Amino acid sequence: MKCIFCQSPDTVVKDSRETDEGKVVRRRRSCLKCNGRFTTFERVQLRELIIVKKSGAKRPFDRAKILKSITTALRKRNFLEEEIEEIANRITLEVESSNSKEVQSQMIGKLIMQELAKIDQVAYIRFASVYKDFSTAQDFAKFIGKIRENQ
Ligand SMILES: [Zn+2]
Repeated sequence: MKCIFCQSPDTVVKDSRETDEGKVVRRRRSCLKCNGRFTTFERVQLRELIIVKKSGAKRPFDRAKILKSITTALRKRNFLEEEIEEIANRITLEVESSNSKEVQSQMIGKLIMQELAKIDQVAYIRFASVYKDFSTAQDFAKFIGKIRENQ
């Protein structure tokens, strides 16, 4: 694995441990050239999946995109990298466990919303505003009104 800081190919594993009940291996790596440290997560991919967007366009399923969405939603909300990785893993597992080879992108959006709703209201609203494509303050107000009703 190349160093993320200096791109040197000489990195070593300093520490390796299983997380998420052994489904994920977390490795702390260190670069021999610049001494930079970074973490990698290795997990089993259950199946190859195709994501079908609202437009009908098809894309290969990409866990990194889920991770990015969650990371963005949880920015400055005091969550650890590990916690965010675990959420992404849970969603990925759920998606990969679905019965069909093709998965609607809305389903993934809903799963992310469910996970965020459980842990952080601000992140939930942040994600929903992008996902549901809010364009006016009214859209926001309506959405928040609905959350209050459900509480
Ligand atoms: Zn380096």
